[in-house]
Order: sequence, then structure tokens, then C-alpha cells
Amino acid sequence: MQAEIISIGTELLLGHIVNTNAAFLSQKLAEIGIDVYYQTTVGDNPQRLIESIKRSVRRSDIIITSGGLGPTVDDVTIEAIAALLNRRLVLNKTVLKGVKAYFKLRKVKFPIETMRQAYIPEGVKWIRNNVGTAPGLLVEYMGKTIVCLPGPPREIESMFVKDVIPYLKKLGKSDWVIRSRTIKTTGLAESQVDGRVRDLLKLKPPTTVGIYAKLRHVELKIMTKAKNEKAAAKAISGIEKKIRGRLKGYIFGYNEETLEETVAKMLIKKRLTIAVAESCTGGLLSHRLTNISGASKYFLMGIVAYSNEIKEKLLFVPEKLLNRHGAVSGPVALEMAKGIRSLGCTDIGIGITGIAGPTGGTKKKPVGLVYLALVTDNKQIVKELRFTGSREEIKFQASQVALDLIRKNV
Ligand code: ATP
Repeated sequence: MQAEIISIGTELLLGHIVNTNAAFLSQKLAEIGIDVYYQTTVGDNPQRLIESIKRSVRRSDIIITSGGLGPTVDDVTIEAIAALLNRRLVLNKTVLKGVKAYFKLRKVKFPIETMRQAYIPEGVKWIRNNVGTAPGLLVEYMGKTIVCLPGPPREIESMFVKDVIPYLKKLGKSDWVIRSRTIKTTGLAESQVDGRVRDLLKLKPPTTVGIYAKLRHVELKIMTKAKNEKAAAKAISGIEKKIRGRLKGYIFGYNEETLEETVAKMLIKKRLTIAVAESCTGGLLSHRLTNISGASKYFLMGIVAYSNEIKEKLLFVPEKLLNRHGAVSGPVALEMAKGIRSLGCTDIGIGITGIAGPTGGTKKKPVGLVYLALVTDNKQIVKELRFTGSREEIKFQASQVALDLIRKNV
């Protein structure tokens, strides 16, 4: 059983938007054991689209298109399908009702151009769009299945998961299950992770391990293709156990889990509260700590203390200390952590100060120098860190190491 994806949109060909839909569809098809052999991108041109679909139908069982279902004249998918099937477009009253209800709910006058979206090739099955207006299409053509989905990622994702996956599963054309598990680490560079697991990366299909490096975050992805769910789980857990043994202490989560989620879970479980004083990260650590629903259970306050005056007045950092060591220094980070901890009456206080660049660095204190402090009842930790990269990358790395410092010390 083979599938292929046709992404429709001139903006994709021009590189104005990144084709995240194709990545999404490929991942989801792999999960249900359907191989994807081709991805094609075609502009908003009916002739070239029809040619692409015809070519795909010759070599694949399932063809999934994304985009071009909208109400504007450059949305060409419906017409292309109608021409391919040699069917006329007929007004579908149920779809029209749905499109009208969509605008009514939002108290927006029904734009007459959207009428176009209610015309569907005669006799073709359609898929309801619960988050937008353009319906999808399910076309059986020459013994093959063509699924047409809208372009906006939110819409395609919702339709694919809710309607298309069950439909494809029912077709029963899948012989395999493909499963993956991602192990997420921080605290080791890619080369260090590689050094610890190198022999495991040389596995042969059907089970493989890939290594992917991001900023202060290295992932290992185990992939396997098996006859059934049980065999896939067994193959993954075998290799996962070995990896876990080699990377103890550096693993912060699995699959979609984020570092801030792990930290939040730990703080909630241990009923600990935290307050954060940030300088160079400009509130990014507070932002990440509060990205988790239920954050008020552990996050009590954050202050972005950029100026020395604020560090003195609000965080009680002694003027003498600031003059002696400078704002970017270990002693100041420590006092910031102590100050915010006593201000918030929390279990944990965090202080961050550094030079995010690209300007402001000196020979003694270069861009990327960051001091991080964590204070609890019985711990006072100060770390000096040297990051490289753009301003945003330096800020992100500082927040990442801070979160990891919390993870390791609560
Ligand atoms: P709608 O009527 O809801 O706009 P549509 O099917 O006509 O749906 P398009 O007009 O092709 O969709 O695309 C709408 C938007 O969806 C694009 O502007 C773009 O932001 C996004 N989009 C389209 N294709 C992709 C893609 N392959 N990957 C990521 N985003 C996409």
C-alpha cells in the first residue's frame, strides 16, 4: 500500500511558506503503516495539477492533496477533480448550511464568494471541516483513493485525524505498523550523546535510531516497522532500555514532552514554588515556566530586572556588589536569586544575568557570557556559562540551562 502527497500552492513553490502539511501527512501515514514514496508540490495551475494527479494515480494507491480548496480564483483543486472525473459541480446544500453557520457563529456577514466552496463534483463524498469552511473530498478513481484536504494546517490536521485516518484504516490497505519514540536529552552536546550511543545508531532496519541536535537539546528517535502493535512496542522498548542506561540523568522527556512540562510536573508533585529574576533572558524563563496549564501552583512571580537600579531596589542586590563585580557576574546572579526568593517567599529562587549580544561584549565579558543562580533552603548554586549564536539563541539557551538546573535540583 503506497501513498503520495501533492501539495498545492504557488506560495509553496516560491518559498514564501514552508510545507509543513507534507511533513504532517507523511508522519501520520507512517504511523498507520502506509509508505509514502513521493511528495510533489505544484502551483495553483489547474492543468499542471491534473497532470500531477494523473501521474500519481498511475503509481500509488492513495493520493492526498493539500490546499487549493478555498473560495478564491486561485483555488483550483475542486475544478481539477471535476475535470478529472468529468463530472459537473453541483451545489451541496448541507455544505452551504455549514459554511453559512460558520460565519453566523462569528457574527460575520456571509461573504458571497464562499458560496463557491459549497459546489462539489457530482457524486463525490465530502469531509466536514470543523475548524474552517472548505470541505474536503474523498474520491474513488480508477480503483485508487484521492483525498483532497484544505491548506491551512489547523484544518488539514483536524480533518486528517478525525476522518481520513479512520477511512484509510477501513480500506484495510495497511500491512504494517510504523512506530517511533523520541528520547529527549539536554546537558550533553550532540557529539557526546553520539559517543555514548554510537553502536546503537548502526542498527539495521526495521528498527533504527536517529540523532537530531537542536539548541541545548539532543533527540534520539527510535523507529520501527512491525507486523503488529505488540511487536513494534517490543522492538522499541528493547533499544530504549539500552539508550536510557547510557544517558542517565540527561533524559528529560519523551515524544512531545517539553523540558518546561517536566519541570512543572516535578514542582507540582513536590509542592514547590518558584520565583524568577531575569535580566538578559527578558522574561523568557518566566514565559516558559508559565506555558504549562496549572502554572499558578508553582510559579509565584517573575521580575525582569534590566537596570542596576531595579536590581538594587527590587531585588536587594547591594550597590557595592554591582560596582565591584559588574551586573553580569556570579555574585549578582546569586543575589538576584536570593532577592526574588525572599520577595516571593518561594522554595526556589532563580537569578539570570548575562550578555545576549550581538553588541555589549568586552574581552573580559564576551557576548554569550551568562551567570545563572539557583537558591533553595539548603542550596546555593551559581553557574558560569558561555553560549554562542544570535541574541535569541543565547536567550533560549540560558532559559534551557536554567530549566535543566531546576530539574536537577528539586
Ligand atoms: P482556505 O479556503 O481555508 O484558505 P485552501 O484549501 O484554499 O483553504 P490554500 O489557499 O491553498 O488553502 O492555503 C491557505 C493557507 O494555508 C496558506 O496561505 C498557508 O498559510 C497555509 N498552507 C497551505 N498549504 C500549506 C502547506 N503545504 N504547508 C503549510 N501551510 C500551508
